[in-house]
Amino acid sequence: MLQRLIRHHFIDLEPYEPIVPLEVLSQRVGVPVEQLIKLDGNENPYGCSPRVSRALADYRLYHIYPDPLHRELREALEGYVGIGRDHIVVGAGSDELIDLVLRLCLEPGDKVINCPPTFGMYPFSTGVCGGVVISVPRNAKYEIDVSAMKSAIDQQAKVIFLASPNNPTGNIVAEKDVLKLLGTGILVVIDEAYYEFSGVTLAPLALQFPNLIVLRSFSKWAGLAGLRIGYGIFPKEIAELIYKMKPPYNVNIAAQVAVKESLADIDYLRERIKAIISERERLFSKLGKLGFIEPYPSQANFILCHVLDGQALQIKQGLGKKGIFVRYFDAPFLKNMLRISVGKPEHTDALIEALRDISR
Ligand SMILES: *Cc1c(COP(=O)(O)O)cnc(C)c1O
Repeated sequence: MLQRLIRHHFIDLEPYEPIVPLEVLSQRVGVPVEQLIKLDGNENPYGCSPRVSRALADYRLYHIYPDPLHRELREALEGYVGIGRDHIVVGAGSDELIDLVLRLCLEPGDKVINCPPTFGMYPFSTGVCGGVVISVPRNAKYEIDVSAMKSAIDQQAKVIFLASPNNPTGNIVAEKDVLKLLGTGILVVIDEAYYEFSGVTLAPLALQFPNLIVLRSFSKWAGLAGLRIGYGIFPKEIAELIYKMKPPYNVNIAAQVAVKESLADIDYLRERIKAIISERERLFSKLGKLGFIEPYPSQANFILCHVLDGQALQIKQGLGKKGIFVRYFDAPFLKNMLRISVGKPEHTDALIEALRDISR
């Protein structure tokens, strides 16, 4: 009966592999939540700005619906990004913007070019929107294959997704490659969720090219993952269309307050970013010295690690028993790999000690 009512493409949809909540991890290993070392979600180990917590406690208008056009937010973001507010679209995380772009562009059966290994939301949202994922794998150095991507483009190809820095490999995409892809005329979405850690952006190109979208997020650098807030720099025409078709109250008022306050406390947050970047370099060097792990250089707040001697899954499980959580991959192109988020210095020390212990 339901089969007749439900859209066919949902029946065999591959679900997104979600994170395991802190409370569940805590119960599983019998370590209190405050003592867990969570290095599996690329979250900010320092949390949000303390000014955000205060502003949220002091806010008095939670009973009023938020502004559907995000006027104040887009004005504040115009200052931060340096690009006019007509080009800016705000969403409930950049995840929502990925979904909105695909809902806007895909007719059933239309194609999306994806370059694995990369962020799982691109194929997931493509499936949800009734599209077809065309996979064009990266090479051994995790660089994209522009000529293979161009050959994969036909009349039904609508969108290319590229994360830069890429999750989970940590490398950025070359501007010259993006320019070649822009020349194909299909939409190119550059996902800069980790921009604040790389300092490299293609956002200014969104003013020149009618088919470039740059996505950003407050989840990682500003420590607001739980509030769900991201934004994108769009060609004006596409920004207008998204404001027409998106759910009106997509960004809740707490998230809007948190963003305005984060931008007002930017110097504090920039110090945190610097601390995470220098910890990344310290973690990289310590991992390399262990002898059984090859870390990949990263421009983000995580490090992809190839386990050279031993089983990555066993290492992940061994760390888990000690209350340290990292991400394990078993996908093609990610065999025997772990992704470790950069934490505080004491997290690095605990992790390295645990890894030494496990390898003995
Ligand atoms: C974490 C991450 C995001 C963030 O998404 P939000 O919905 O803003 O939390 C987006 N893209 C990539 C590649 C990521 O790793």
